[in-house]
Amino acid sequence: MTLETRIVTSGRDAAKAAGIVNPPVHRASTVLFSTLAALREAQKDPVRNLLYGRLGTQSTFALQDALAEVEGGYAAIACPSGMAAIAVALMALVKTGDHILVVDTVYDPVRAFLAQTMARFGVEVTYYPPSLGGDIADLIRPETRVVLCESPGSHSFEVQDVPAIAAAAHAAGAVVMMDNTWATPLYFRPFEHGVDVSLQAATKYIVGHSDCEMGAIICTEAVFPAIKQQAMRLGICVSADDCYLALRGLRTLAARMPRHQETGLALARWFSQQPEVETVLHPALPGAPGHALWKRDFRGASGLFGVVFRDGVSEEGIRALVDHRRLFGIGFSWGGFESLILPTDPRKLHPNTSWPYQGPSIRIHAGLESPDDLIADLAEGMAALRKAGGKSQAA
Ligand SMILES: *Cc1c(COP(=O)(O)O)cnc(C)c1O
Repeated sequence: MTLETRIVTSGRDAAKAAGIVNPPVHRASTVLFSTLAALREAQKDPVRNLLYGRLGTQSTFALQDALAEVEGGYAAIACPSGMAAIAVALMALVKTGDHILVVDTVYDPVRAFLAQTMARFGVEVTYYPPSLGGDIADLIRPETRVVLCESPGSHSFEVQDVPAIAAAAHAAGAVVMMDNTWATPLYFRPFEHGVDVSLQAATKYIVGHSDCEMGAIICTEAVFPAIKQQAMRLGICVSADDCYLALRGLRTLAARMPRHQETGLALARWFSQQPEVETVLHPALPGAPGHALWKRDFRGASGLFGVVFRDGVSEEGIRALVDHRRLFGIGFSWGGFESLILPTDPRKLHPNTSWPYQGPSIRIHAGLESPDDLIADLAEGMAALRKAGGKSQAA
């Protein structure tokens, strides 16, 4: 069966849902048993059996089953946010004295978690540049337990050589985690490229409608028990209503992503023709940084990309561009049906990664609006940028 079909069929059990297409919202704290023996029987497998609300209800189980199947892993653990998924997975697999290798372009709040929380437990971190590939072997120490990658980086869009990193990590007995939010399971197959733990900020494309926070840890059978136990000990649980929204979002993923991709590429090409633009950071554009690796390993591109302006385009120019839009929203997150625009500063976010550009940059999320309307909106924004001091230094 194709992945597109599994996105529609996964996690659906007609018998459990009494024939209803979408598994109903099962809200619960207490779950009642007819006899003490039945309760004791259910307790034998608290991971699979309905036992107590915090441990999940049919709503949680349906979402987890679907995400595990679609991402291609053994099992999934739903978490209250993408950030929670990353934190729980890391906490599950390291102990005092261990060392973690983290890509320098990692989702920024992870740095604070490592510096403020994991450091207190005596876990050491080395940030490596996203271009490293198999040479990551040189940074692996005897106590290195985890390599955490994210590809492409969500502000600077470098593509990592995940199979080479995984080979080096596995040779040293380390676990490979990857934040697969940008590509979604549709456009990158983490477990076919050596990843042991795939992390999804389902908040983005899986929920897809900007109305709920959700994270997921999808992993191999070997690491599932450790991560699941850690999640249970930390009291990680998600509401049945949010599971319902995430599952409903997932069903249309294969319909939405090609549209995000096409519109993203149309906007990227348009930006690359503007004289004030130095470069467009979109892995699916021929000639763009990371294009060759993207072409080798990815099945498609989502709608999130970067634009770097020439040196000489001023802060005021960028502010005029961002403020003059009618359709593009200004705000955090991405992956919803609506387009977004935001200034970004990869040089500051990724101190260990070379950044050859001097000019300012922005990040665009291409939503599901008409690309023509979006380009018309951006053209007005670029006119405002020129007026406000965005003079091109192009020859
Ligand atoms: C947003 C994001 C996260 C965190 O997800 P939340 O659900 O907002 O906690 C993690 N990784 C990436 C790449 C993200 O963009």
